[in-house]
Formats: sequence, structure tokens, C-alpha cells
Amino acid sequence: MSEQALRGVSAAPGIASGKAVVLDRPRPLARAGVARAARGREAGRAKAALETSGAELRDIASRLRESGRDDEADIVETGVLMAADSTLVSLVDSLVLESGLHADAALAKAADQIATDLANLGDPTLALRADDVRSLGRRAAAHAAGGRAATVGGVLVAKALGPADVVELSPTGIALVGGGVTAHAAIVARSLGIPMVVGLGDDALEVEDGEGVILDGDAGLLVRHPDAKRMEAARAHGDQRRAARETARARRLVPAVTRDGRRITVLANAASVVEVIEASEQGAEGVGLLRTELGFLDAHAWPSFEKQVAFLSPILARIAGQVATVRLLDFGGDKTPPFLHGATGRGIELLLESPAQLRTQLAAILVAGGKTGLRILIPMVTNPLQVNLVRESLEEVLGGRPGPQVGSMIETPEAAQRAGEIARVSDFLSLGTNDLTQLVLGLDREQSKTAPVTDTRVLRLIDATMRAGRAARIPVDVCGEAASDAVAMPIMIGLGADELSVAAARVGDVRQRIRDGDFAAFRAESEKLLLDQPADAAGKSR
Ligand code: PEP
Ligand code: MG
Repeated sequence: MSEQALRGVSAAPGIASGKAVVLDRPRPLARAGVARAARGREAGRAKAALETSGAELRDIASRLRESGRDDEADIVETGVLMAADSTLVSLVDSLVLESGLHADAALAKAADQIATDLANLGDPTLALRADDVRSLGRRAAAHAAGGRAATVGGVLVAKALGPADVVELSPTGIALVGGGVTAHAAIVARSLGIPMVVGLGDDALEVEDGEGVILDGDAGLLVRHPDAKRMEAARAHGDQRRAARETARARRLVPAVTRDGRRITVLANAASVVEVIEASEQGAEGVGLLRTELGFLDAHAWPSFEKQVAFLSPILARIAGQVATVRLLDFGGDKTPPFLHGATGRGIELLLESPAQLRTQLAAILVAGGKTGLRILIPMVTNPLQVNLVRESLEEVLGGRPGPQVGSMIETPEAAQRAGEIARVSDFLSLGTNDLTQLVLGLDREQSKTAPVTDTRVLRLIDATMRAGRAARIPVDVCGEAASDAVAMPIMIGLGADELSVAAARVGDVRQRIRDGDFAAFRAESEKLLLDQPADAAGKSR
């Protein structure tokens, strides 16, 4: 049979190959209804199945909590509440007692009905929770029908999946008919490193149980009947990823020093406990970029002091004694919460328009990060005055106590052009190569498939920033994707980066590539690229 690729949307990266495990296949045979006299007992079985499911979910949540995955545990625990929800319980009751449905059918039907109602409310967040209800219904129905497989492995193919299924079934990949990239199941899959594709449509349910498939979470594809070559490539990809992770963990204490002796500090970009744990298992020396705004993208008002402390504390508690670079709220652009719709500013410009909110955040960071080597990072800086204003607010909040270091993100062309002035009022600089590249080259950050950071127009601004940092004798960090990109990372080091801050899953790989490389070669390569640039561009950047 020839290859057939079903196209969906990538929800978690990576490639998995293996046998398909298909859930949600429609039941072919209609069964006779339950006799009136037996309906009471059948309703009891349905209730017991719901209780068993609730207890299972509670167990999964506590296992997650024990392994430090509090965020995922919170998500799974919402399923425990759903299992006891009175609307669900009474709907199941009436489907059995009045309509004579069997317990498993009643559970699946009731969950489906409630999920459909949720999806129809017009609230995208509630619509995504519909998947969690369906997943609970399926779990309970499986219990009522006489048991449930504990672990499946393989590539899971389903209509929808709840977060607990992702944890419990331990699939190597996930293919969903529906689902969304921000659904709970997708959040959990990403943090556990399980490739996932959503929105594949009903064709995905035609996949046979046990059929060999490839799930390509990078390209958003589910490939049926893959040819031998593709299968082999996918298997090799998976093996490589697993081996690299094992090696990274085994070498977590080996410093990231090039063969000719240049030591680079490798930190992690993180916004959750899971990422901080993964990063530290791969040898990260702390956090170089904590994106605080990611905790509040659904907010309907500026987050309170308490909410910010609650978001930051579990993350920062994991890196006591290590560098913790907490970035001030970088709202605006593609990170605009509902309460800021219509605002035109971005990053620090926006925050400085609400000085009381800036002080609230600074106070929350100081409380939550008290036991860390705290650094505060200012997003989207364009001039030195902004840095001084943040320092003034910080002094007010500190009231004479010693305070953390204050660093500036250099991620706009304006900031790179004024890097010297900004460096003089900063304790460190951090190059945001994602925004810098897009802004310099006029690309759309969400649509653009490439971010050519090694374009000479971008490189000359990075070079100018590194020079400014050296002149001011302060460290320069790179925290955009260029810090882990195979081509750009050596160039960043060659230009003089002291620290790289990279996605948690990339920490070990970046540290290894530093150990395998030569600073002199990195430097020669970066100088060559700078010399390659047109004379007028080189002239302007110095
Ligand atoms: C960047 O722009 O490179 C950066 C690290 O910031 P963010 O990706 O959060 O905008
Ligand atoms: Mg940025």
C-alpha cells in the first residue's frame, strides 16, 4: 500500500514512529436496552465507574506532584472535580434509568453531551475543556465495560484526549481528530516531550489498530503506510533524541567549556516548574529568561501581587542559590491579554505607563526570588531612561535593602544602536534575537518560517551589542532562539556571548556542542561573516 499523509496542525514537536493505538472507534453493534428491573443496578455500576475514574485521576495527579510536575497535577485534578460533577452524574442516571442505556454507553453519551454544550458556549477556553470531559467519559465507560489498559505506548490516535490520558497512556506520539494547540493535553504533551498533531479530521479514525504509522509533530503529519525509508529515518530520529537526552543527563555536571578553554554559562528559558526541572537535569546553571507574561495571557486585569507570587514561587523555589533572571511583563504584540486589547506599546514601554503595576511586579519578584541569585530583566528596552526609571521604582520597593542586578533586553534595532548608553546603566545585557531579527528584517514573527539571524544586517547589531557589553565590562547573554540554533550558536559565542539561555529541552545539546567546539574557530567564522558584509553596513555598525 502506498504512503498516505494526513495533514493536521503541530501541537508538540518531534517525530514518533510505531504501532497505532486507536481509541474512540465507533461501536459497530447496537445492543438491546437494559431491562427496567436491572436499571437501578446498572446506574450503580455507572456511578462506581465514575468514582473509580476520579480516584485514578487523583492518583495520577499525586504522582505528578511527587515528581515536581505541579502544573500538570493541577490540570489533571480538574478531571477529579468533573467526575463528581452533579450535572454529569444526574445525566448518566437518567440515561440509564429512563432510557435504558448500558452504563458504558450512558457515560460516553453524557460526557459527549456536556462536552458539546461546552464547545457551543462560544468561549474558546471552555471549548478546549470539552476534550477533558470526553476523556473522562471514555475512561469511565471503559471501566464500566470491564477494565482499561494501563499503558499503551505506541502512537495514540483519538478524537480527543484529556491531560491524564497523556500521562497515563505514555504514548510515543499523539494524533487527534480534533483538539487545539492550547488544550490541556497539548500543554502536557509539550512539557513531557511527546510529539503531537491535532486537527487531523475524521480520516484519522480510519487508521487500523496496530498499523505502523509515523507521527511528525514538526510537520503536523500523520503518515499511514510509511515506506521503509521514512520509517527508518523516523526511528533513527527518535533513537537519537532519546540517546541525546540520556547523554545530556549523564553529563550534567561536566562544565560547558570549549576545547580551547572558553567557558560559557548555559542557562534555561522557562515559564514553568516542568521546564526548570528538565533544564536542571540537563545541566543548566540557572534561568536566563523567565517569561512572566506567559502566566497571565488570559488575564482580565493586571495580575495582583498575590497572583504573581503564586506563579513565580514554585518555579523559583526549584533554583534556590542559582541565577534566576526574571523578565518584567512583556505584554503587547502577540502577547496581549484581553485587558490590554487596543494598547499599542510593548514590553517596558507599556509597563512604565502603569508605574504602580511595575512596583507590584517588582515586589512580587523580590518576595518569590529571595533565595535565588536574582536578576531582573527589562523587555523591549529602547533607551537608557527606561532602565533608570525601573531602577528608581526598584529602589522605592527595596526601601534601602540591597537589590538584584538589573539587565536590559537588546531586541530592537533602536536598542542595539544605543547599546553603549544602555550598557552603561545596566548590570548585564541580554540579546533577544527573535524580535531583533524580525524587526531588523521586517518579517512577521508569527507567520515567518525562518529567522535568519546570521543576515549581516542583524549580525552587525549583535556585534555592536557585544562590543558595548565588553566596553562597559558587563556580561552579554543571548536568550533568543539563536542561542541554540546549530548554525547561529557558534557565531554568538564567536562574537563574544558570555551566556546562552535556551529552551529547557535544548540545554544538554547546547552544552555538548560547546564542549565539542573551538572558540578560535567560532571567532574566525563570526569575523568572516562580519567581513563579508557590505562596506557601508560594516561602517554604520561601529
Ligand atoms: C526574543 O525576542 O528573542 C526573546 C527572547 O523574547 P521573546 O521571544 O519572549 O519575545
Ligand atoms: Mg522578545
